[in-house]
Amino acid sequence: MDDLSERISSMIRSFDEETNYLFIQTIFHAFNTPLHDPCWCQSGKKYIKCHKKRHELRKISEGEMRKELLNIFDSKKYCSASFDNKNCKMPIKGAHTIQRGRVLSSIAKDGHVGSFYRNNSGFENVRDIKLGVKKEASIFYGFCDFHDTELFKEIELNEFIASPENCWASSYRAICHEYYQKKAAKKAVTWQIDNLDKGYKLSEQLILQEQLMLLKRDVFKGFDDILSIKEKYEQVRISSNYHMISSYVIVINEPLSLAVCGTMSPYYDINGVKIQNLGISNYLFQHFAISTVTVNGKGAYVISYLKEHSVIKNYLSDVFAKSNDFIKSWLTKSIFAYSENCFFNLDWWEELSSDKKLSIYNLAMSENYTKKIDIDDVVSSEVKGEISSIDLI
Ligand SMILES: [Zn+2]
Ligand SMILES: [Zn+2]
Repeated sequence: MDDLSERISSMIRSFDEETNYLFIQTIFHAFNTPLHDPCWCQSGKKYIKCHKKRHELRKISEGEMRKELLNIFDSKKYCSASFDNKNCKMPIKGAHTIQRGRVLSSIAKDGHVGSFYRNNSGFENVRDIKLGVKKEASIFYGFCDFHDTELFKEIELNEFIASPENCWASSYRAICHEYYQKKAAKKAVTWQIDNLDKGYKLSEQLILQEQLMLLKRDVFKGFDDILSIKEKYEQVRISSNYHMISSYVIVINEPLSLAVCGTMSPYYDINGVKIQNLGISNYLFQHFAISTVTVNGKGAYVISYLKEHSVIKNYLSDVFAKSNDFIKSWLTKSIFAYSENCFFNLDWWEELSSDKKLSIYNLAMSENYTKKIDIDDVVSSEVKGEISSIDLI
């Protein structure tokens, strides 16, 4: 029995009597679907062309699946700056999500930075954590040659100055990266729905399809949320209405050890009160963008949001009303808790105690949006420096 079958059968064993009864009925109905009726999986295809013989197909191996998913995430090449596509100039460049010249190079060791592998399970002891650390920086194929240069030249070529335009540019790159990832995730989940249950028996197919449909719903919704934010950031640029966004620029009095580029959409505020995912239909989740820059050689983070996003506005006001020590704890913990695109200096990582590595690794690997997280100094006690200034732009 492979891992997936193992997981499914332990799930089935945990069913109570009523669930088990319903499940058996579902299997019975699925099995008896007339051949030319729509398939039970809701693909829209006829049963005979969809699941009727899926159990006879060859199973997809772990390796094949990983390869296919990596392929989906790496091979989508397009320019994200759709608002200005008349000016696109090919080729699509492999763009660093994190500014290369100042930020990546300031945390690199022999040209490498550390990050965690995602979607890997089973690292249970500290020895294995090493395997979860990779030495490369994230590149995404999300801008054409022209836009990769044009949109970001001010922050690439010069020392970061906290102007509304520069905060926009740094945040727009973070939003486009999130958009690119979520667009690929849509393709990945669709591929999984079509392939993952090949060679499994009907009872297993039913469970897999149900789980994948839930995943699909979340992934598609996540894409819609970020698409809406991306379009609003583009309106800001087109209309030069930079007052539509607000940004906090946090400067640390030491060079960087952590870099991040992405968006975050917390469900709970810092007091543990639920602020999003309240079950309101058609509600678009609000995000803030977080990106990394340097100011006079010191580390700095740009946190930016749409002013109309009052949930995020209130969330951040609560955070920034606190002491600088708290803000540093919140910032460094959030980087690992909420972003999949964070990077660290490899010496910094090596010097952490085994316990610390384990707790940071676990923080990075767990699903934190859906639960309350305590803001403590688990990461910040290991990050040199203090906040020297916070500007609201
Ligand atoms: Zn089907
Ligand atoms: Zn372009």
